[in-house]
Amino acid sequence: MSENLLTVERLTKRYGQAAALDDVSFTVKKRERFGVVGESGSGKTTLLRCILGITVPDQGKVFLEEKEITHTSVEQRGIAYVPQDFGLFPHLNVEQNIAFGLKIRKAPVQVIKSRVEALLSAMQLPQEFMQRMPRELSGGQQQRVALARALAISPKLLLLDEPLSNLDEATKDEVLPYLRTLNDHFGTTAIFVIHTMQDAFDLCDRIGVFHRGRVLQIATPHELLGKPATPEVSRLITSVRQNQVPHV
Ligand code: ADP
Ligand code: MG
Repeated sequence: MSENLLTVERLTKRYGQAAALDDVSFTVKKRERFGVVGESGSGKTTLLRCILGITVPDQGKVFLEEKEITHTSVEQRGIAYVPQDFGLFPHLNVEQNIAFGLKIRKAPVQVIKSRVEALLSAMQLPQEFMQRMPRELSGGQQQRVALARALAISPKLLLLDEPLSNLDEATKDEVLPYLRTLNDHFGTTAIFVIHTMQDAFDLCDRIGVFHRGRVLQIATPHELLGKPATPEVSRLITSVRQNQVPHV
């Protein structure tokens, strides 16, 4: 059986004349934490949306476990997405937010209840939080509820769009352990869009460096530091080089 969970093949998406994604190909292995890094406007969110199925690419294919899903509906892909603003439904409480995907899939009430309880404890959130509204939670707690909601449907692949960028430093430290242990605890494969190299190095097994809709290099944090493929990659990781080399 193949080691690969996701294959993206020559994906291109244009808006007018400009290509948000320009001939992008890469694979993500099962249980990998794959980072997508690049400056603002480099096509990171467009990539996630194409993989999820809410943006239709102009060209190229997406495969999940060798099966082509380029034209499969979002619901049937088994992929979960946590958008940059966490995407919690403001008018639903924590329990209803986490249960949402299971309800749509018509899971039995008892199954939903125990799944929500289990996810809350996995995210180390008290069971009393079930009745809280999203606005009554801190940023880090909202992020963890969003993660619980995404994991509720036991997705094959989890897509997280800049999970750290709306959090201050202290909250980031609160959330990082949950993101680090996703694969081990939930058997999940995850793609993280991250806009700082340091965070990507801390979190990801491999990183794809994006620039203007193209992939410049895909490598482990170690390889990226030691052997950047182009001057552009060097430039993008410069800020990290100046700091301490992270433990990778
Ligand atoms: P990133 O997430 O890396 O900041 P995006 O994927 O959001 O980048 O955007 C890549 C490029 O595509 C940007 O130039 C952006 O303006 C453009 N773009 C993204 N979505 C749309 C859209 N719905 N309509 C027009 N242009 C878009
Ligand atoms: Mg984005």
